[in-house]
Amino acid sequence: MRVDIVTIFPTFFDVLGVSLIGKARDRGILDMHVHDLRDWTHDRHRTVDDTPYGGGAGMVMKPEPWGEALDEILDDEAVLLVPSPAGELFSQPMARELAHEKHLVFACGRYEGIDQRVVDHYATRGRVRLVSLGDYVLNGGEVAAMAVIEAVSRLIPGVVGNPDSLVEESHELGLLEYPSYTKPAVWRDLDVPPVLLSGNHGAIAAWRQEQSLERTRAHRPDLLPDTDRVRDAADAP
Ligand code: SAM
Repeated sequence: MRVDIVTIFPTFFDVLGVSLIGKARDRGILDMHVHDLRDWTHDRHRTVDDTPYGGGAGMVMKPEPWGEALDEILDDEAVLLVPSPAGELFSQPMARELAHEKHLVFACGRYEGIDQRVVDHYATRGRVRLVSLGDYVLNGGEVAAMAVIEAVSRLIPGVVGNPDSLVEESHELGLLEYPSYTKPAVWRDLDVPPVLLSGNHGAIAAWRQEQSLERTRAHRPDLLPDTDRVRDAADAP
């Protein structure tokens, strides 16, 4: 299996050179490539983030470097994996599915995450999966990518010395966050939702609430009883 990882902290992944995964690399079972996202920037400061459209705290990762990097790295067989607390919950069944793939590409977000259009764009070109490690917030996608890589790679024949050891293994409440956008307003024919450019904070808040509900319904229906409670509270006089 080939694994590509795009991150602004490539040294995070030095640890993949040790233990069983390191041995699998050495033996050619895993072909791992770690890339610095800033290599696809073109300004003096190697900028990868900007302020969020619609306002709010934090910064959002710009789509352009991600687009250039992923255009170069993705191939027809690749699955693009985007670590996100708003993704589908990573599980052993998902690890087993991914272990059959030939090429995994990880896009490690930082700050408030990656401009939503990156995911939207690549979903029109190939297979894209948002993957959550659990219902908590990490500082970036690197730790999640490492968890997925470790869980998947140990299922590849030859990585774990004794395959019998794989046979008998085990396996916060609230809404998921709405999609985030930053400049430019149009990227690859994809527009930022107009409400975010309106300056109408009430409308933006309502849109975000609706998007949060939609995402929660789409990705984590098991959270819906709590979602219903939030909706009931919002509807209360
Ligand atoms: N504002 C985002 C939200 O609430 O959905 C969280 C951004 S987080 C500070 C920065 C990055 O860390 C995310 O883009 C994602 O790549 C990664 N991350 C954080 N929590 C994660 C989790 N539970 N599973 C997978 N990735 C996570």
